[in-house]
Amino acid sequence: MSTAVALDGPAGAGKSSIAKRAAKALGFIYVDTGALYRTIGLAATRAQVEPVDSLQLDKLLEEIKVELTFSKDAGQIVLLNGEDVSDEIRTPEASMMASKISAVPKVRAYLLDLQRNMAKENNVIMDGRDIGTVVLPDAQVKIFLTASPEARAGRRYKELIEKGMSVKYEDILSDVIERDYNDTHRDVAPLKPAEDSVTVDTTELDFEQSVEAILDVIQNRINN
Ligand code: C5P
Repeated sequence: MSTAVALDGPAGAGKSSIAKRAAKALGFIYVDTGALYRTIGLAATRAQVEPVDSLQLDKLLEEIKVELTFSKDAGQIVLLNGEDVSDEIRTPEASMMASKISAVPKVRAYLLDLQRNMAKENNVIMDGRDIGTVVLPDAQVKIFLTASPEARAGRRYKELIEKGMSVKYEDILSDVIERDYNDTHRDVAPLKPAEDSVTVDTTELDFEQSVEAILDVIQNRINN
């Protein structure tokens, strides 16, 4: 039987970089489910479909094909109708669109099987908002990874600046706060720790310490 680690938490808590490293150490596949919502958001932006336009959104979901593939070097690659959109989904605009479109129940339902199948076929660390509560309620390990909004905005700011993007810290912080609000207040699958999850707060931890903390929780749970 495969092993699943559900890793949930708010935007910018460092889930993806920490999970990537932890997955490598364990020989697991790292699945970034945010990329799936971002891809649907990108498809909607390209087709000029508003998340609230139910009929147009139905039509869009029928027409598009979203796939995840994995490469040893690049890790997860997300395909929209066969096109690699892994970079294009990383802009602040795509983040905001993902946050809005992920509140639509039919979008969440559309992505459910894809996520569950990944965990059926592989040992995974799956990162998202509702992995421990909805997608993989039977995951052997559930972690809620969090940090203060300021720490999270600071990290995201640094990441985007290093990628050569021109962004302001204040804008990133208000985006983080707005996305937290959207994610925790939506009716379907709101962001909240699963009852049987372990919370890890990385506000005061550096990257290596955060990876260690996650690996400790995983090894404790798997070995006991
Ligand atoms: O994790 P990331 O920031 O890339 O996710 C983008 C957006 O997708 C989040 O703001 C959140 O609204 C949504 N999301 C979600 N459920 C997941 C993963 C992401 O609602 N499992």
